[in-house]
Formats: sequence, C-alpha cells, structure tokens
Amino acid sequence: MKHIIKGQYIYEFSHQHKPIAVIQCGDTVEIEAIDCYSGTIQSEKDLVTDLPNRKPNPATGPIFVEGVNAGDLLEIHVQKIELNSFGVMPTRPNRGLLGEFITETQTRILPIQDNFITLQNITFPVNKMIGVIGVAPENEAVPNTTPGDHGGNMDTKDIKEGNILYLPVFHEGGLLALGDLHAAMGDGELDGSGVEVGGRVTLQVNKVEGVTLHMPLVKTADEVIIIASAIEFSDAVKKAMREAVRLIQKKTGLEFADAYRLVSAKGDLRISQLVNPEVTVRIALPKEWVEI
Ligand code: CA
Ligand code: ZN
Repeated sequence: MKHIIKGQYIYEFSHQHKPIAVIQCGDTVEIEAIDCYSGTIQSEKDLVTDLPNRKPNPATGPIFVEGVNAGDLLEIHVQKIELNSFGVMPTRPNRGLLGEFITETQTRILPIQDNFITLQNITFPVNKMIGVIGVAPENEAVPNTTPGDHGGNMDTKDIKEGNILYLPVFHEGGLLALGDLHAAMGDGELDGSGVEVGGRVTLQVNKVEGVTLHMPLVKTADEVIIIASAIEFSDAVKKAMREAVRLIQKKTGLEFADAYRLVSAKGDLRISQLVNPEVTVRIALPKEWVEI
C-alpha cells in the first residue's frame, strides 16, 4: 500500500510523540519534507537571523510501523527523492569551519533545474540526499539538530536514492520521521549547510528481526557503511571501528585482531559532517563482510 504523508512536523525525536500515520511493513510512503528553515527563506532578502526563535530541521512524522518492536531494525529503501525548484544556502558569522571570516549574514538562492544547481555563474550536478532521518531514541528526546544512534541529523551523503538505510528500533512502531533534504552537500558540510531544499521522498519500509545494530548503517550496491556520531571526532571514529570489528567477527567468526586487521586493510573512514552538536563519521566495508 502507498501512503502520502505531509504537513505535520517534529523538532526532536522522542517516543512521546503521537504518530501521524500508521503503516505496515512492506508499505511505500511518499513523505513531503520542508527545508530545514521551514520554507521561511524564499528570496535573498530573507535572512536566517530574521526568525531567531524558529526551530530548525522540521522532520515530517512520526510514522508508526505496525509489527516493529524494540530490538528490530527498520529497513528503509530510499526509492526516490524529488526536489523543489531552488535550494538555499545562508551564511552567517561564526557558522561553519571558517565562520570567523564571515562578517555579515547573507542568503543565497540556488536554482535547481534538470538535475543541475546554479550558484552565481557556476553550475554543478545535483547530489540529493536526506539530512535528517531517524526513529525515537531509547531514552530522552534528541533535538533534530543532533545525530545519534537513532539517526537524526546525520548529514550523510549515502542516504540517497537507491541505497538502503538500517536503523535500530528502540520503541514499538519505530516512530520514523525525516526532513532536511539537501540538493547537494560535500563530506563535512563545511560551512554548516548543504544546498537546503524541500521536496518529496518515497521510501519502502520493512523490518529485520534477529540482527543487532548499535547505530545506523547504509547498504549500497557494493558497500556496507556504518554511521557513528559523538561529540569528539576520535570517539566517533572509535565507535564506528568497534561496530565494524563486531560485525565482521559476527559474519566471519574471526578473532578480534584479525577483524581489526580487515578494518584497517579495507575499511574507508569518511567524514559525514563536522558542524552539528555531535560530529558524524562513517566506515565503509565490502558488502560481503557484513550480514544483514
Ligand atoms: Ca542537517
Ligand atoms: Zn540541512
């Protein structure tokens, strides 16, 4: 069955939210997402500082998935991402890694046409992705600015059309929500924003039983990518590595040191984002080394 879901947003992931829709495993959902500024920036005259109390990163949802329980995984096939006709990129003092060189708040509108984005006289291809997607976390609510083991603001380029995202479930129904689409974003999200855009996302949602994940994971055509977030960069890297070693050991039966060697020999450490309240990194492994 296909559901169309829109118009209701959360600003933090929490098991206390009432679901706005109930779906079955195997269903398809088309979710309308507004941009991370709630569509308040429509021209270059609109500045992020005009609405200081606006809550960032609205996520459409939550969606209750019938039959899904704590300890299961949600298996989310990202089938399609459709974008609105322009993206926005604000800059403001002290935002992003070179924020000290920005002296005034400014908005840039970037038209999107035929899968290309334009900034001034430069045109580059769309690389669309979902910035915020997650389930209700195990304990207290987590704001949509922050990534974690429940997903959230992971800002990870691999959460895109054609890939499968696995999220650990902490509460009955999962309580899935998403938002913060990007028409493009480089690894790091270095100035603090992607090409922020609204649009529609089509997902097919299933569950996996009997497999434990301690954090989100993406499966692509040839890789399994473990996504880890922590306040400190080195802690995020170690967290992803420990999960990589654990998953390789589980699939292969190898001892810790050999799985550790394989992570070093073939695992690629990549940076998702360095600008959110926790940083997000990922480790990509050959798909055949991990069983899901
Ligand atoms: Ca984001
Ligand atoms: Zn964003």
